[in-house]
Amino acid sequence: MKLGITDHVDCAHYLPGHPKCGQMHGHTYRVELIIEGHAQGGMIVDFAELKTITRKVLAQYDHRNWNDFLEFPSVENICQLLHAQLKERIAFPFVVRVFEGHGKWAEM
Ligand SMILES: [Zn+2]
Repeated sequence: MKLGITDHVDCAHYLPGHPKCGQMHGHTYRVELIIEGHAQGGMIVDFAELKTITRKVLAQYDHRNWNDFLEFPSVENICQLLHAQLKERIAFPFVVRVFEGHGKWAEM
């Protein structure tokens, strides 16, 4: 069974050398975390636990510039960074999907 939460983070970024995205601008990034596990006793894990973990990871970046953390902060690289940090904190198999604005996303 799968269980998921959605959270958001607002960040600035620019993509060095990119014709359109080379100028500093901002996005609201929607972050979806989906874990997989068995619902023992009716629950895989408490939503509150997933929310707390995700918020802690995202709080490091909220209202910050991704370029302070990544050389090339594409949505792919942001997704990879968040996946690595969530992996340290989540015992279940999971995927993380990061939306950059509307209709554009990366998943790992
Ligand atoms: Zn952008």
